[in-house]
Amino acid sequence: MQLIDGKLIAQKINQESLAAVEVLKARGVTPGLAVVLVGEDPASRAYVRSKDKMCRELGMHSVKFEMPAETSQSDLIALVHRLNADPAVHGILVQSPPPAHIDERAVVEAIDPRKDVDGFHPVNVAKLALGDPDGFVPCTPLGCQRLLLESGIETAGANVVVLGRSMIVGKPMALLLMNKGRGGDATVTVAHSRTRNLAEVCRGADILVAAIGRPHFVTESFVREGAVVIDVGINRIEDATSPKGSRLVGDVDFERVAPKCRAITPVPGGVGPMTIAMLMANTITSAQRLG
Ligand code: NDP
Repeated sequence: MQLIDGKLIAQKINQESLAAVEVLKARGVTPGLAVVLVGEDPASRAYVRSKDKMCRELGMHSVKFEMPAETSQSDLIALVHRLNADPAVHGILVQSPPPAHIDERAVVEAIDPRKDVDGFHPVNVAKLALGDPDGFVPCTPLGCQRLLLESGIETAGANVVVLGRSMIVGKPMALLLMNKGRGGDATVTVAHSRTRNLAEVCRGADILVAAIGRPHFVTESFVREGAVVIDVGINRIEDATSPKGSRLVGDVDFERVAPKCRAITPVPGGVGPMTIAMLMANTITSAQRLG
């Protein structure tokens, strides 16, 4: 069984990013990422901090806006418009989820698609569906595809089951893997909460991508012998033996599933580190395009 080390692969991608930043800087361009957070959600704050830190480590320009929870939608959109016009900013990200009074779609649609490094703008969603490489692909599924590529796992002709159909993970993952070309050309099935005989459907997979947000949901009965399993799930569960009283687990019951697998990602240390590495890579791509 091959353990797919997302931390190590993310480090390799970050090294490539570091080199790409140097080349851009020599041309007088410093890739810049603006991250906007509205409200006090502690998990969102932690994500924003780690994105800011990674930008700095790679020598990129980072701007962070922490706005109070009562910020109006129009003020938030006005900030997005300012960032759209700022030539030092190549990537704009509004941390999800915003407070309930803000329409997240309206905010995403206000972002210039050329700076939408999260790949959530409808123009970028359409480009992914069209197989147009000029768009931006959401960072988590892009990271999953890269894990497969870096681990030498062939997707062409493979039966892939994507468990979950969210716009952040499941749907773009399915599109990426079914598109033509390297890291694609798979035969993709998308499963969700209305899928009949879920375990049986998943057992048909050469490659199973689990993204449902249910701790340890995928057990050995979902996985055929020799399958590759990519676990996107990040779930906090209580654990009295841990100093924090809780720990992070995936959507896959690793202990029970791993012995059957050809390759599998752990949680933590699998998909998680890839997401931020791909965000940096997308921002650098934007800087290369926009100059
Ligand atoms: P969502 O809640 O948006 O989507 C979950 C999907 O799973 C839905 O399509 C839902 O089906 C399906 N689902 C839920 N329960 C079941 C079930 N019992 N059986 C079958 N399908 C089910 O989640 P996200 O896609 O945003 O995230 C999924 C997981 O990935 C979470 O654990 C999240 O924390 C993690 N994540 C990790 C990231 C990383 O960087 N590693 C980044 C983003 C997410 P239906 O549509 O029918 O409701």
